[in-house]
Amino acid sequence: MVSILKDIPIDGVKIVPCRIAVGNRGVVKSFLVAGDHRVILVDTGASDADADIIMDAIKDMGQQHADLKLCILTHRHGDHTGGLKKLKKTLKFEVMAHELDMPAIHQATGYDVEHVVKGGESLPDCGGIHVIHTPGHTAGHISLHLPSIKTMIAGDAIVSAGEHLMVSPTYLSSDPEAAHASVRRLIALNLDLDRLLVGHGDDVYFGAKENLGRIFAGPRP
Ligand SMILES: [Zn+2]
Repeated sequence: MVSILKDIPIDGVKIVPCRIAVGNRGVVKSFLVAGDHRVILVDTGASDADADIIMDAIKDMGQQHADLKLCILTHRHGDHTGGLKKLKKTLKFEVMAHELDMPAIHQATGYDVEHVVKGGESLPDCGGIHVIHTPGHTAGHISLHLPSIKTMIAGDAIVSAGEHLMVSPTYLSSDPEAAHASVRRLIALNLDLDRLLVGHGDDVYFGAKENLGRIFAGPRP
């Protein structure tokens, strides 16, 4: 069962649909994670307007703006980092991103990345949030695994149409082969996943492990 906007509650995670203002490119999602005595934002939308949407969503979660302590950027693209400037001007929090995307994020936003990761790190929140390096869409793309709620936030490493998951398309990837290899590695990890949340397209709420495993399945008989 899938839905981009049904807003089926997820324990500890709020999906925040933002708008990509450029052209008619639709929705990019940010995610608010209720961490240990702090709120963690994953991606910032594309614009100042998305920063406003995110700030409203923090309140909707029953949290205070001051509770936002960390923003994790899955990757450097503008539709995921575009809200950072306004959020940084308004709120006090630190930023985490992969070392390979960090320079572009700094250049685009003017803000430092205080926590530079390589993949393999863990945050203590929510019983553990694991940072997985999933290069290909960009060199420094990261995905987040929250095992206690059987959830993966896959950013743009995986896109989704209905319940059909696909590797980030070639024309959107800086290294399409690496993008495929990253998803094969994710599958090989054999993670017990119910949910797979993506930047673009429908989130998978149930049976995500099986959906993920079908990405490289052969043709139908
Ligand atoms: Zn992207």
